[in-house]
Amino acid sequence: MITPRYHREIPQRYRLEGGKCTQCGEVHFPPRAVCRKCGGREMETVDLPRRGKVLTHTTIWIPPAQFESQKPYVVAVVELENGVRLTCMVADAPPDEVKIGTEVEIIFRKLQSDPRWEVLQYGYKAKVVG
Ligand SMILES: [Zn+2]
Repeated sequence: MITPRYHREIPQRYRLEGGKCTQCGEVHFPPRAVCRKCGGREMETVDLPRRGKVLTHTTIWIPPAQFESQKPYVVAVVELENGVRLTCMVADAPPDEVKIGTEVEIIFRKLQSDPRWEVLQYGYKAKVVG
């Protein structure tokens, strides 16, 4: 589904940008208006590192309809090299290839297609490195 939130987050989704608090240095992803650590309201845009590792993961065997063609697939919480965490699908990996600590790289892929609007959504996924 194309949601207002999806449109708002397009720059982050395509460029993997975070918001860094100019007061305390905390990096938020997606960027926030107010720092969750110190309450600061000034943020600068920073590029996030592409590399990280899997903190935890789960395999989706029964997905929502728009992801049916991709099942089974793994969804992982990835911690990037700067400590920022994000949740995303792991591309092209059978479930037994993804473990806690697996090194991944964030890439851009088609996430889903919606036949009602003939729109493809792109966004980030993790890909196992090496
Ligand atoms: Zn802060």
